Amino acid sequence: MSSVNGHASDAAEATPPRGATSSPVHDPVSHDAAVAPVHLPGLGLPELQQWLEDHGHERYRAAQILDWVYAKDAESLAHMTNLSKGMRASLAERVAIYHSQVTRQTVAADGTRKLLLTWPDDHAVEAVWIPAQERNTACISSQIGCPVGCRFCASGLDGMLRNLTTGEIVEQALRIRRLIAEQGDRPRGKQPDTPHLTNVVFMGVGEPLANYAAVVKAARIINAPWGLGIGARRITISTIGLPKQIRRLAGEELQINLALSLHAPDDDLRRELIPWAEAVPIAELIDACRYYFEQTGREVTLEYVLLAGVNDRPRHAARLATIAQRLRANVNLLRYNAVPGLPYERPSAASAHDFQERLRQRGINAHTRTSRGADANAACGQLRRSTGSERSAPDHSPV
Ligand code: SF4
Repeated sequence: MSSVNGHASDAAEATPPRGATSSPVHDPVSHDAAVAPVHLPGLGLPELQQWLEDHGHERYRAAQILDWVYAKDAESLAHMTNLSKGMRASLAERVAIYHSQVTRQTVAADGTRKLLLTWPDDHAVEAVWIPAQERNTACISSQIGCPVGCRFCASGLDGMLRNLTTGEIVEQALRIRRLIAEQGDRPRGKQPDTPHLTNVVFMGVGEPLANYAAVVKAARIINAPWGLGIGARRITISTIGLPKQIRRLAGEELQINLALSLHAPDDDLRRELIPWAEAVPIAELIDACRYYFEQTGREVTLEYVLLAGVNDRPRHAARLATIAQRLRANVNLLRYNAVPGLPYERPSAASAHDFQERLRQRGINAHTRTSRGADANAACGQLRRSTGSERSAPDHSPV
């Protein structure tokens, strides 16, 4: 999942306020072919080796090609100068690095930037760059729209349109890395050759574990030394909580972080807020998360969006503390930002602080996340909705 504010950004108004900008974008990336069928960011090294062999090329070329894509950040096959002209021409008919066009970009006053990426089928996704002192995080989407339908979330309003492919997921991270490079930014205090992109979080639009195979493969490519090379501990999957998939993920031998978007500390309230919670009691989720911790050694983080008067009362804090204790989990609190047309409100800073202190008094490591990009349509679904890119095709069926 992403949460409504899952990528550390609160819901935003469709029109950026003062200090933020939003603009259509001229996309400088030249496409190798408008819809070349083979999407390089979706292929692992062995797959590309096999594909090349099947198409009459040497297997060792795969490492060269991926080096251009990931280490050298090539825009197209035309830049791959250690391949012969003939081979580049032959590949260009069938293979592309970039399938999307950047059709819009918003910039928040705090530096958070959000890209609207439009695919050849005219569907669009959002990818966000969240710069911070020591890190540059890409918040990426896993689906177009979201099938979970959380009552407080813009992305859930229209249901899911389709899953993203592995290539489309990895391409978002490539796009954000390119954006960071264009802005000339690096993590502060690091050497010039430090990779610009340091963290990737699956907290954009969609429920990542409902698109399991594509997301796990994308995480492997993002983590691979021949891929984006992002350390597993700098990759986070955020889920609304699908126990079967959490247990499966625990067995993938990927040491990535798991964040559980709880949002309510008891089943009745959770079912009210999150339709998919109907089939999943919190106790079952806790068991699955404990299993994940036991298998991977990675602690699970609880994400909790504070909705004024709904889930932010002292009794909610007490129950949430009990769950966090059982999981030995840290808690990230986020203050909701109102979404036009939805009946939920943002709690005051004082109320959020009180909630946080109640958790801390019970020994829970709790933090209230700073809103990032709140003025850049940064909440999941906001930019896509504000540009009218979405189509409606509700699909709220649980996986
Ligand atoms: S509807 Fe989907 S994108 Fe929105 S908060 Fe729920 S899981 Fe996240």
